[in-house]
Amino acid sequence: MRVCSWLSAAAVAVAVSSELPAQTIADRYRTNANRIIEAALRDSTAWNRLAEMTERYGHRLSGSQSLERAIDWMLERMRADGLQNVRGERVMVPVWVRGAESAALVSPRSQNLPMLGLGGSVATPAGGITAEVLVVNSFSDLTAKAAQARGKIVLFDVPFTNYGETVQYRARGAIAAAQVGAVAALVRSVTPYSMRTPHTGGMAYDSTVRRIPAAAITVEDAQMLHRLQDRGERIRVKLVMSAQMLPDAPSRNVVAELVGSERPDEVVVFGGHIDSWDVGRGAMDDGGGVIVAWEAVRVLQRLGLKPRRTIRVVGWTNEENGGRGGQGYRDAHRASLDKHVLAIESDGGVFRPQGFGFTGSDAAFEIMKQIGTLLDPIQAGAITRGGGGADIAPIMALGVPGMGLIVDGTRYFWFHHTEADTIDKLDPREMALCVAAMAVMAFVAADMPDPLPRAAPAGS
Ligand SMILES: [Zn+2]
Repeated sequence: MRVCSWLSAAAVAVAVSSELPAQTIADRYRTNANRIIEAALRDSTAWNRLAEMTERYGHRLSGSQSLERAIDWMLERMRADGLQNVRGERVMVPVWVRGAESAALVSPRSQNLPMLGLGGSVATPAGGITAEVLVVNSFSDLTAKAAQARGKIVLFDVPFTNYGETVQYRARGAIAAAQVGAVAALVRSVTPYSMRTPHTGGMAYDSTVRRIPAAAITVEDAQMLHRLQDRGERIRVKLVMSAQMLPDAPSRNVVAELVGSERPDEVVVFGGHIDSWDVGRGAMDDGGGVIVAWEAVRVLQRLGLKPRRTIRVVGWTNEENGGRGGQGYRDAHRASLDKHVLAIESDGGVFRPQGFGFTGSDAAFEIMKQIGTLLDPIQAGAITRGGGGADIAPIMALGVPGMGLIVDGTRYFWFHHTEADTIDKLDPREMALCVAAMAVMAFVAADMPDPLPRAAPAGS
């Protein structure tokens, strides 16, 4: 093997000191891992293909023609690449259509408020809703001000802490507002940084309260309305939304394989979600995740590396507003889930990779940490406890060990679910590093002599 110039001295030193009594997983695979990394970094096909897909087809909301055309394109390209068992696996998906929408401050002065309806929201009445606004900074603040909320538009002005925490207001704000008699809910966009860009995303209703329209406004405007309220101003906003839910429509999970040489029925499945929201072009969320897995398989193919087990790339459909792709995959492959040795998802953007989060048995975690050392030359080998992804969650719940690619998350939520999720925010070399990390991890997991040990079933 050629020793690549980018290998650090330390990594080379480790590579030659293999006089350990028993050959470890890392020793066994170091040469091939370095070949994979080198091949991945020579190439910027991942970025180019993501640019082509996102610019040719645009956003890929479930139920849209653009999603189905992008799926057709991907299937055709995968076949042309010589991937095996390329197919679309049918899944019925919900169809939510945004329609025309707007928000405007009407008192104490007139001003347009850039907004995005939340996915799944109902429409306003045809003429819109014009009402006084009550700004709150938390669910408990809303509870404290419940007596003032009736008939108003409740605005949750909640600063971003982390996604998991702050997204609760987007997800459940409409329910909480309806519980205290509000006529609509607005949320401050879920982001740590804003250039007056609204961020959409999923939201929920429950059967106990009225379904009220819900939308996101920008951080800047949420703060402004909050300050107006603090100064004692009476704020009125007009909200117009015409969103509707149409009957479910057929879509597909994109599936392609590198069939295993010895145990083709055992599978490492990896990928991301092919659908996106209907704003921007779904480059980082999550076209990039699907395309790095696809490219990872192409790198292995190019190097003539045929793992013992099958590596299966999946572009799950309908992650964003339904999760039907992940559920459909589970249902279609239920009989073979005990042969799924590992599932890996990339759905946090394809920025510089740092490692993987892993959910599985302690014994498997130790092996994963060893495989991670193979990615130390590109500083992508940190394996931490806990990880997965929305699309693999349904099979993880049935015992399949799961992993999520962890990348530098500094900028992801600046663009997440906005018009600005476009290819220019991504870097070809960082994407190639993601390809390398995904390829090494999937290859070793698929080729190891023994399958990854699973956790004992719960209750045993
Ligand atoms: Zn996503």
